[in-house]
Amino acid sequence: MILVMGGAGYIGSHTVKHLLDNGYEVVVADNLIYGHREAVDARAKFVHADLLDSYSLEMLFKNNKIDAVVHFAAFAYVGESVEQPEKYYYNNVVGTLNLLYAMLAHGVKKIVFSSTCATYGEPQYTPIDEKHNQAPINPYGRTKLMIEQIFADYEKAYGLQHIALRYFNAAGCSVDGSIGESHTPETHLIPLVLQAISGKRQNIKVFGTDYDTPDGTCIRDYIHVEDLALAHRLALEKLGSYNGCINLGTGVGTSVKEIISAAEEVSGKKCPTEYAPRRAGDPARLFADNRKAKEILGWNPKYTDIKGIIRTAWNWELNRRY
Ligand code: UDP
Repeated sequence: MILVMGGAGYIGSHTVKHLLDNGYEVVVADNLIYGHREAVDARAKFVHADLLDSYSLEMLFKNNKIDAVVHFAAFAYVGESVEQPEKYYYNNVVGTLNLLYAMLAHGVKKIVFSSTCATYGEPQYTPIDEKHNQAPINPYGRTKLMIEQIFADYEKAYGLQHIALRYFNAAGCSVDGSIGESHTPETHLIPLVLQAISGKRQNIKVFGTDYDTPDGTCIRDYIHVEDLALAHRLALEKLGSYNGCINLGTGVGTSVKEIISAAEEVSGKKCPTEYAPRRAGDPARLFADNRKAKEILGWNPKYTDIKGIIRTAWNWELNRRY
């Protein structure tokens, strides 16, 4: 049985569905602070548990025969991590230490972990490969880097088998429309653009139009959530023969203005847009060198066309369940 910690969240819930569709037995644990109970597939077992509550973790491992863990449970608001670092270091770092403690106490040595391109900090070059220097510029990124480092030490001392997947910009929603992206507050570009288009928000503010990029707006690598889910399964299947970190991105960069145009095309509607100053800490360009994921996991993103990604998010925006 696979334990998906944080399986009620955006990427977690899509991974749970993918694992179930591929014949895995899944137990989902989530504290439901940011996760949605409705996002958890009915075929999975659900346990309300919190990483900071060692007793609930102990019960989770005692009551379920867990073979491996996929760990998504984390706070992930960059701005909040600057204002409240304690919240992030406790939940993300101490929480993961608690999880590792429970795993090792029950002889579970396999973990796939949600890491992030935020561990690289300001890019020295693009596309970014896994050898790029890691110098995160906010506490959120530092929590993820610390956990990667903890895994390496636990591997040497306790034989932990670990793969950390460094996501670029997760985007899109389940193709069948059953689950999708729902954050409160929402801070991500694509859902905000679609909400501006559908009239749920007044407009989208473009953070900076004076970057050194062809159209002056920031470039990011948007990777479909179902492609991320697939990579988690492939990583689970690779545990034991590979330990380390792997980028997950399409390798293609898309600017903020290109996202807005693509969303207008997909929806057939105009997006009310306002040009605003730069947001602190946003690098001009971030996109992945994804060769390692292809070589080691045999992974290939299906969604390389931004309109295809946005179409799934638009479908969710029109018919969202939560
Ligand atoms: N962005 C924007 N307006 C918004 C939200 C985001 O212009 O309301 C830009 C942001 O500056 C970045 C890109 O969209 O260049 C993606 O931002 P998001 O917050 O979705 O992801 P991040 O790259 O910060 O992880």
